[in-house]
Amino acid sequence: MIPVYKTPEQKRKFYDGKEWKQLREEAKDRDNHECQECKRNASVGIDTNEYSEKAGRKKIALVVDHIKELEDHPELALEIDNLETLCVRCHNVKHGRVFVPNVNKWAADERW
Ligand SMILES: [Zn+2]
Ligand SMILES: [Zn+2]
Repeated sequence: MIPVYKTPEQKRKFYDGKEWKQLREEAKDRDNHECQECKRNASVGIDTNEYSEKAGRKKIALVVDHIKELEDHPELALEIDNLETLCVRCHNVKHGRVFVPNVNKWAADERW
């Protein structure tokens, strides 16, 4: 049985799941914690160039994205070949979202 991820609740449940969180880390390791889209465009895209005083380093804002969207391809939800690491900026562009600097809430979790 293929699960359905249509509603925000269904998606939230998926993204809060242990399996996803583990696979997400595997995908980031595989991609060397670099934005694959920026890499394709031969630009430096592993972070936002924002400096975090608290962390004492530059902020890194990466998400792990479903290449084929979760909603359309639930059977690929936990398929690592369907995942790629993107920076927040590229991820927002992909989904047609406007990037708002200094709002870093996308960094921790993939959202829809
Ligand atoms: Zn990028
Ligand atoms: Zn996405």
